[in-house]
Amino acid sequence: MSSFKDIFDRHSWDLEKESIYGKTAADVERALTSPARDLEDFKALISPAATPYLEDMAQLSQQLTLQRFGNTIQLYAPFYLSNECQNICTYCGFSLDNKIRRKTLSDKEILAETAAIKAMGFQHVLLVTGEANRTVGVPYLANAIKQIRSHFANVSMEVQPLDQHEYEELIPLGLHAVLVYQETYHKADYKKHHPKGKKSNFDYRLETPDRLGKAGIHKMGLGALYGLEDWRVDSFFVALHLDYLERTYWQTKYSISFPRLRPFSGGLEPKVEMTDRDLVQLICAYRLFDQEVELSLSTRETEVFRNNVLKLGITSMSAGSKTNPGGYSVEPQSLEQFEISDERTPEEISELLLKQGYEPVWKDWDLVLE
Ligand code: SF4
Repeated sequence: MSSFKDIFDRHSWDLEKESIYGKTAADVERALTSPARDLEDFKALISPAATPYLEDMAQLSQQLTLQRFGNTIQLYAPFYLSNECQNICTYCGFSLDNKIRRKTLSDKEILAETAAIKAMGFQHVLLVTGEANRTVGVPYLANAIKQIRSHFANVSMEVQPLDQHEYEELIPLGLHAVLVYQETYHKADYKKHHPKGKKSNFDYRLETPDRLGKAGIHKMGLGALYGLEDWRVDSFFVALHLDYLERTYWQTKYSISFPRLRPFSGGLEPKVEMTDRDLVQLICAYRLFDQEVELSLSTRETEVFRNNVLKLGITSMSAGSKTNPGGYSVEPQSLEQFEISDERTPEEISELLLKQGYEPVWKDWDLVLE
């Protein structure tokens, strides 16, 4: 059966890089004025040639976002269930070779965390685990979703990639969205960063969104981890992937995130720096390319950056995040996946949004709609 891999294999990293870096001011101006932007326009918008046009891009991006999403920003909280992981990833605190105490929440602990997250006002949660099939495989995830489903309006998941039939098992339990980032689309570098474990299988991960689409998921999230490789080329491949998925699984909604490498226990220095200015350019480029896609900004980013950028195309934000299992109430001291940057409470984020003329959305979906 066909999948994104067929398209991916027809593209060369080096040729795409050359094409992006070869874009001119004329290409950027054409992309800015085009009524329907294609992948060539997207390349122009993320190219170095577009940097003098950042103000124009930002204004257009803000306008398009307001038209489609109004003055709203959706708020969600990550809900870490486990830090057990059988993979080695060079950039992550949960990596198998990192000698930390491992922790997986029990049923009782899941309910205690649920109460703590609900007390902060959240109705949307993102369940997160490492990739450990035996301890946090499908039976564990199914049990966790069943336990928390009636407490939240919306449950998303960021865990190991699964088979299609496994997604088909979890979706009827109330799983609304799945996030799966390719980390980098540079196949050789991907191998260097994922030397051991199931995650070292580049193609299996690449085809995960296809399996999700076939399973009929409501929404899926894509992205690259910035710092591993050239951000412009990785972003082009994310856009190529998004474009293919939207055409193929048109009933599914899509979101994009922009995680930049953050310090963690055992630390990897980013190979490539993505500056704040670069990230602004990228957020605007995605919005100009795709008016429907949701764009999400996490607490990895600093307070100042989040304050300034939220109006330029962002539609959802996390707040008050803990990136360790049990971090909200059960075991605040367990090891976090990475350090967060914006430490403000959900109320502070909510006040900031109201001050900027936005409505913080805690809930945009109800169980009765299912
Ligand atoms: S990034 Fe995911 S798979 Fe890799 S070590 Fe961390 S938790 Fe495990």
